[in-house]
Amino acid sequence: MPLAQNPAVSPAALPDSGLPALRGAVAGLPSYVPGRRGTGGDIAALASNESHYRPLPAAVAAVADAVSTMNRYPDSAAVELRERLAEHLGVTAHEVAVGPGSVGVLQQIITGLCDAGDEVIFAWRSFEAYPILVELAGARPVRIPLDAAEGHDLDAMVAAVNDRTKVILLCTPNNPTGVPISHVRLEAFLQAVPSSVLVVIDEAYVEYAEAASGPESLALYRRYPNVCILRTFSKAYGLAGLRVGYAVAAPAIAEGLRRAALPFAVSALAQRAAIASLDAVEEMEVRVAAVRQERARMAGELEAQGWKLQPSQGNFLWIRADESLRARLVDAFDSAGILVRAYQGDGVRITVADPASNNRVLRLLEAHAA
Ligand code: PMP
Repeated sequence: MPLAQNPAVSPAALPDSGLPALRGAVAGLPSYVPGRRGTGGDIAALASNESHYRPLPAAVAAVADAVSTMNRYPDSAAVELRERLAEHLGVTAHEVAVGPGSVGVLQQIITGLCDAGDEVIFAWRSFEAYPILVELAGARPVRIPLDAAEGHDLDAMVAAVNDRTKVILLCTPNNPTGVPISHVRLEAFLQAVPSSVLVVIDEAYVEYAEAASGPESLALYRRYPNVCILRTFSKAYGLAGLRVGYAVAAPAIAEGLRRAALPFAVSALAQRAAIASLDAVEEMEVRVAAVRQERARMAGELEAQGWKLQPSQGNFLWIRADESLRARLVDAFDSAGILVRAYQGDGVRITVADPASNNRVLRLLEAHAA
């Protein structure tokens, strides 16, 4: 089976090698364990919440057109893309910052706002890059356990705010549980958080969410200038391999994020593809509707099989599993050539993809239902 096996757990701190010393924050860092990759006809790649669709045809054409200009640097200020995004979102280009994936923008946020010892609060489990980026910046990650319904415990997050808190990361719908934060709860949260703390609303999967399930983040941003919205072209737009994401923030913050960016980090190909994708937004929405339909079908069938799931608003399903069930499922998925994402002690996340792959998942899980 041509499965690339990534270690299930991160290596411990690097041993003393006698070579020039890494910063303590780096030496102690868990390495990001990417979703497992596979090749071959029978492998279902459901570990990274990628789109199973090819990029939109207009994006492919835009990249093909731009390929012959690769001898040139890209526009480091990404003026055209920022203007196009501003038009799309109803903000100004001053309020937009782009980066190499939303994880790149997130790094700009953390390094732009946090000094050593500052604190960044986020829910746990959530996106695994959060603690890594925070520690890399020398800041301190503050993990607040999810509530019993697999969602953010916003009261506990407010209670964790102190003088050292610089940033709060909210992920809606949450990766890996799929649970969104409601508009009403988020607004109450924003009223309780000091305006000196940047509240990042990470909406990497927002296109997959039913409109009424999550927050109207742009409306909240207009009312609370300490809100920063984080989005990406990697998921619903199908451009994960090109690396482009963006933030919407108050002009002074957005300017800071642009200053904190690695110069030329977003390639011209990525900028062109992102603009072409925005121009073809209706095509993206048709694809997203198909994924939502599959998500509902899978959730319904799994519940009928006896699985207890929280409704997911992302392009993935979350199965909470103790260590023995998790290990059993990982073995079964591995043997079936289905790549999923397993989280030690917590559960398994499965990307919703094409009906044939989804059916393989359903058949496999049926055999393991309680
Ligand atoms: N935020 C969340 C919640 C994610 O799950 C991911 C990707 N797994 C990202 C951000 C980063 O995606 P990208 O850098 O490709 O935009």
